[in-house]
Amino acid sequence: MAYDTNNIFARIVRGEIPCKKVCESAHTLAFEDINPQAPVHVLVIPKGPYLNHEAFAANASDAEIADFHRTILEAARKTGVAEGEGGNGYRLITNSGPDAHQEVPHYHVHVVGGAPVGRMLS
Ligand code: 5GP
Repeated sequence: MAYDTNNIFARIVRGEIPCKKVCESAHTLAFEDINPQAPVHVLVIPKGPYLNHEAFAANASDAEIADFHRTILEAARKTGVAEGEGGNGYRLITNSGPDAHQEVPHYHVHVVGGAPVGRMLS
């Protein structure tokens, strides 16, 4: 599947669609999920055109990958779920590809927490 430059998250990166920004870095954007499944539900996305985890891990630069993970941590700290900030931790979820029911065709990681989220994977 080819990357669609008009997918909703690409449009958020370009500022064409608003989002509730949590934090931003050189290569990464973190914003609130429009349909939160927990008290804290943040989406972290690379600014570059990566379809899914596979595309990101294979093609992103080391700088982009490091930036992405640091921004996940920054988002967890800013929303108070990071244990270092007195929170109780968080779950990271990536749906990559059709079998995982990925809805938006731009790589993203969900940061979910603020309450116990259960022991199932999804
Ligand atoms: P997926 O199933 O692809 O892993 O999850 C996509 C997520 O994107 C869903 O949790 C959905 O609520 C969220 N989402 C879809 N459209 C928008 C939008 O326009 N803005 C924001 N902030 N989140 C969105």
